[in-house]
Amino acid sequence: MSDYRLSPFFTVLQAAEKASQQGGSAAIGAFNVNFFTQAQGVLEGLRRADAPAIIQASKGANKFQGGPDKIFYMLTRAMEDSGHTLPVALHLDHGNVEKGEECADSGYSGIMIDASEEEFHLNVAVTRGMVAYAHPKGVGVEGEYGQLAGVEEDVSSEETVYAKPEKVVEFFRRTGADALAIAYGTSHGPNKGTNISDLKTEIVRDSYRNMEAAGLVDDHFLVGHGSSTVPQELVEEINSLGGNIQGARGVPLEKIKEGIEFGLRKINIDTDLRLGITATTRKFFRDNPSAAEVDALKGAREVLDSQLDAIDPRDYFGAVKPFDILREPPAESGIQAFIDLMELIKERIAVHVEFLVNEFGSAGLAGSVENLSLEDMSRRYGGDGNC
Ligand SMILES: [Zn+2]
Repeated sequence: MSDYRLSPFFTVLQAAEKASQQGGSAAIGAFNVNFFTQAQGVLEGLRRADAPAIIQASKGANKFQGGPDKIFYMLTRAMEDSGHTLPVALHLDHGNVEKGEECADSGYSGIMIDASEEEFHLNVAVTRGMVAYAHPKGVGVEGEYGQLAGVEEDVSSEETVYAKPEKVVEFFRRTGADALAIAYGTSHGPNKGTNISDLKTEIVRDSYRNMEAAGLVDDHFLVGHGSSTVPQELVEEINSLGGNIQGARGVPLEKIKEGIEFGLRKINIDTDLRLGITATTRKFFRDNPSAAEVDALKGAREVLDSQLDAIDPRDYFGAVKPFDILREPPAESGIQAFIDLMELIKERIAVHVEFLVNEFGSAGLAGSVENLSLEDMSRRYGGDGNC
């Protein structure tokens, strides 16, 4: 497994900052995954684009697969199967202290600790505590400041609480965090509002400028959550295949790219991949009506037939663990249909990931990620105190 070790969260993000200082502007794609085929698809897209990336799992994804150790295994197994040696970090998305510690102990290379609903000083204290736990293991930490509107698992807020750019430097200095998600008007989930004027990319610009003035930009990174573009052709495709998704809207790609120009170095993508998986699965059932009868897929078809607005694969796939299946193919009939569907999903994701990392400016950056192990990273963190 040593050839397939995960890269530190820090070095992956730093490659984007270096590229940005050399005249380009780049951010690392952070792709949420829930199951093996999804991880395979992301890796395939990254390979086509020669891009480094962050693969992340939420608390819900960890639960779906039975724990952080299972997600760690899922990703390293997918890397091993495909010979993937480009830099990939594994990150916990929206963690709390308990999950953060568990993931830092389970091989993750980054932890997001989301205490953004707390008062600023409490948020700082909780985040600093996570840094104290994670950095000695070489594990990077992302905090969040401000609140995004929308719902993501157990994280929800009615409306945006914008980050104040003048507090961003203070947050980094007092916590020692590597990265900070700042609320600038994007939302979680597929409904990102209709009002483009809610998007205040100047918050990113001013935060980055303040960090620059404080000498922080080389090793501290801004993050954009809720950044799926929700392609309307994908929504229309799902609806033409029996789904019924209304009012889903994302962030225009141009706005995300403006955010990257202004200083975002990590862009979180979740909803777009879910939509692609849902469209592919619905199309597969339409083209292969008999597939709905096989044991491995029966449940998925039933959920999609009854929940027309379903877009979360966890809702219709149960715990999908095709690596177990592929290692020891059971005699069960219909397993080939399952494998065929997973291949289609993998390709769909690969195409979308390749497209996105090209747009984000991180295509071709795999070779510029500093080659450090988590042990190396631990020593580096130890050497420079707070930040
Ligand atoms: Zn988020």
